[in-house]
Amino acid sequence: MVRRSLIIFLLALIGCATPAASLPTVTPQPTPLVLPALPPVGPTILPSDYNTRPAPRATQAANAQPLPVVPGTTPSVNFDSTLRPQFAQDLNIVNNETIYTMAWNFNDDLSEIQGSQRVIFANRTDHPLDEIYFRLFANYPDGGGNIKVQNVRSGENNLETSLEQSDTTLRVQLRHPLPVGSVAVLRMDYVIQVPRDAQARYADFTRTDWITTLPTIYPIIPAYDAQGWHTELPPSFGDLVYSDSSIYDVTITAPSQYNVIASGEMIQETKNGDRTTRRFVAAPMRDFDVNLTDRMKRTSARLDDITVNSWYREENAEAGVRALNWAVDAVRVFQEKFGPYPFKELDLVETPTTAGGIEYPGVVTVASDLYQDPAQLNAFEFATAHEVAHQWFYSVVGNDQVNRPWLDEALVQYATLVYFETQYGKDVARTLQQNYFDAQYEAARKRYGDMSAGLPSSAYIEESYGAFVYAKGPKFFQAVRDKIGDEAFFKALRGYYEAYKYRIAEPKDLIEMFQKASGQDITPLYVRWIGG
Ligand SMILES: [Zn+2]
Repeated sequence: MVRRSLIIFLLALIGCATPAASLPTVTPQPTPLVLPALPPVGPTILPSDYNTRPAPRATQAANAQPLPVVPGTTPSVNFDSTLRPQFAQDLNIVNNETIYTMAWNFNDDLSEIQGSQRVIFANRTDHPLDEIYFRLFANYPDGGGNIKVQNVRSGENNLETSLEQSDTTLRVQLRHPLPVGSVAVLRMDYVIQVPRDAQARYADFTRTDWITTLPTIYPIIPAYDAQGWHTELPPSFGDLVYSDSSIYDVTITAPSQYNVIASGEMIQETKNGDRTTRRFVAAPMRDFDVNLTDRMKRTSARLDDITVNSWYREENAEAGVRALNWAVDAVRVFQEKFGPYPFKELDLVETPTTAGGIEYPGVVTVASDLYQDPAQLNAFEFATAHEVAHQWFYSVVGNDQVNRPWLDEALVQYATLVYFETQYGKDVARTLQQNYFDAQYEAARKRYGDMSAGLPSSAYIEESYGAFVYAKGPKFFQAVRDKIGDEAFFKALRGYYEAYKYRIAEPKDLIEMFQKASGQDITPLYVRWIGG
């Protein structure tokens, strides 16, 4: 996510920059429409040894149980459909990922969704589990929407459940403790109410005249790490979701006039009267994002075998093409600097969000008002590049966005500087850094005192969160780069991306990468900019 106040600040400051340091204006170029062909639906699916591999953190791997065969539910799709062919084996990187098989039926005006899902969850912790938690972010306080889980079943048995954390957490009590390495199969039904013209949480869960945006609206299992289950209620600013890479198989039925823009790949489309059913596979992805629209247009471009789609309102067509070009350039730059984007597709979507933009696996959203205001071109490009960078850091390499938001946000802010440096030269990047990061950090330091950039989001208020995590945090990366040089710096980031693909990274993992690549101790820089 990039926060609105940050990019307004950016706009003001760049507006004050000398002409020589101004960012060049990009002329939109017509881009040929390249629609991806639907892959054939083929046989399954799971890596052949999926059933027998031990859970990675299991203390007694011998306890690993085969996945149960559930009659009538054998997956019949290629779970590697989301991946570029050369990365199809990425499905094997993480063992025993959770599998979500979901079916959603929308009513005519998209105000209600009847949902059901089956979740196959392997206990990858180091001890038996008495319960499994789900997050219900559609119930976030004052958001206007809600999700009501009607039942949770295991086999023939209804399981006891309870709501916690202002109804954003569903605790499911298992009938018997789930041994390490064993698998639970849970089924549940739910109803989701989609709020109209909602403004809460950056207006990210809302139904408007031109788009319905549905971020993490289904019951999702949170990450379980050294602190246990992550069931905390994050503050009203910052990102919500901390979860593991999983396998999603999602069937969506909606009135036929709507296009569905979602994480992953659409593998089937069946029209039945005035309703259309579409099936998506997203794997390995740590969330599943959905948007529906009957008004917006799409333009697409290819970079290698990656399709980048830009969805925009017709009146913002020029901006939609502009954003597509920036997104393609950003993918090119980040592939070169950090490593390959593994998925076939990336969707860039104009939305009514009041953040500058928000990231989801395979989908990035950017605020509509940036599309509409020619005076905000710099902020528009910044937000686009920032959200695309999150595909590397947050989506593919995961982290605790709630308690260690700097690990993706500060890095992504720095990656955005790298994008500007690559596209427009070092002077432009330096101007951005001084006028944007440095100035905002200094202003916040005077106001709040010098706060660490490495705190949980709940330790800040919204303004200080932006200033210290997004403006001070990236200065750590500049300091490391200045100390160890470009070669070691980018080698470390490529190593970090490769080593923690589809996993959860901790700050120490990144620090170790820098130290390994350079042979230098960067702890003092970490203490100075992140921990100090
Ligand atoms: Zn962000």
